[in-house]
Amino acid sequence: MTLTALGLPSVQRPPATTPAPKTGPLIDTFGRIATDLRVSLTDRCNLRCTYCMPAEGLDWLPKDQVLAPAELGRLLRIAVTRLGITNIRFTGGEPLLVRALEDIVAVAAALEPRPEIAMTTNGLGLARRAGALAAAGLNRVNISLDSVDAARFAAITRRDRLDDVLAGLAAAKVAGLGPVKVNAVLDPVSGREDVVDLLRFCLDQGYHLRVIEQMPLDAGHSWRRGETLTADDVLETLRAHFTLTPDPRPRGSAPAQLWQVDGGPGTVGVIASVSRAFCAACDRTRLTADGQVRNCLFATSETDLRLLLRTGADDDAIEAAWRAAMWSKAAGHGINDPGFVQPDRPMSAIGG
Ligand code: SAM
Repeated sequence: MTLTALGLPSVQRPPATTPAPKTGPLIDTFGRIATDLRVSLTDRCNLRCTYCMPAEGLDWLPKDQVLAPAELGRLLRIAVTRLGITNIRFTGGEPLLVRALEDIVAVAAALEPRPEIAMTTNGLGLARRAGALAAAGLNRVNISLDSVDAARFAAITRRDRLDDVLAGLAAAKVAGLGPVKVNAVLDPVSGREDVVDLLRFCLDQGYHLRVIEQMPLDAGHSWRRGETLTADDVLETLRAHFTLTPDPRPRGSAPAQLWQVDGGPGTVGVIASVSRAFCAACDRTRLTADGQVRNCLFATSETDLRLLLRTGADDDAIEAAWRAAMWSKAAGHGINDPGFVQPDRPMSAIGG
C-alpha cells in the first residue's frame, strides 16, 4: 500500500538518520503521535478462539520473563509522565487471569495526569471483579463476544462459556464500566447470522457492538483473505435487517467507522483493519507482557525494555529507547503488500 493511499504525507519526513526527538510527544517520522498505550498483561488465555490460538499447545511465556507489577508500574509512569500517554488499555492474553490486576489498575489510576483506563477482556470472571476494578480506577471495558448462540460460541472459542461472558457484560454495566463495548470477530461460515443476532442483543442491552475484520494474527498462520468476512460483507448483511446511516460525529483516531442503527441512538461500529486500513490515524504504542515495545500490531521487530529495566537503566535511557522504537514505525501494517510477513507472535501474545 502506498503512503498516499494511507493518507500519510510522504514529503516532510526527516532523513532516515535523524534521531528521535528527546522530548515532546511520542512521535514517528510520519508525524503520528502515540497517546494510546496497549499493555498486554499476560499471554495466557482461558479461551481458544479459532482465529487467535491453536486448539491445544502454544507455549506460555516463562514466568521470569513476564514483567513484575513493580516493573510494569515503572514503565506506566514513564509512559504517562514523560511520553504523553493519555490512554491505557490493559489486554492480553486474558487480563482477568492476572491476580494483581486491580493493583495494576490502581497504580495506573494514581498517575498524573490521570490516564483514561480501559480493558479488553473475554469477560470470564468479570462478574466477580467488575466492582473492584471500577473502584480501582478502571473506566471502561470492551468485552469480546463473537456469537450469542451458545453452540456457535463454543465452536468459535472451543469452550462452553457463553453464560459467563453474558454475566460479565451485565456486571460491567452495573459497575459503570461504560460505555460497554462488545468486540466481535466473525466466523466466516456463521458470521453473517451471528452479527444480526449480536446487534439485536447489543441494542437491547445498551452495549455498543464493534465488528472487527479478522487479521492475519492467528497462531497457526492459516489466515486467508478470501475466507474472512470484510467490512463490506458485514454492512451488506446488516443492511438487510437494519437501516444504517453514517454517524455524523468525527472519527478522529478511533478505529471503528460508526453507523447509527434505525435512526439511533443505537450504533454499530465496523473496524476495517484489513480492507480499509486506518494506519494514518494510528495513535498506539504497545507493550507486551514480557516488556517488549512494539510500534505496530504487525511489527516484526521489538524493543526490549525488560532488559533495560533489569540491567539498571535509568528512566532517561528507558524513555529514549521507547522514543526510538516509535520513531521507526512503518507507514502502515503492510497486510495488503505483496511481501507481507505475518509477525511470529500471535495476537494472544501481542495484545489486541
Ligand atoms: N482475551 C481478551 C479478549 O478476548 O478480548 C483480550 C485479548 S484478545 C487478543 C483482544 C481482541 O483481539 C479480542 O477482541 C479478539 O477478538 C481480537 N482478536 C484476536 N485475534 C484476532 C485476529 N486474528 N483478528 C482480529 N482480531 C483478533
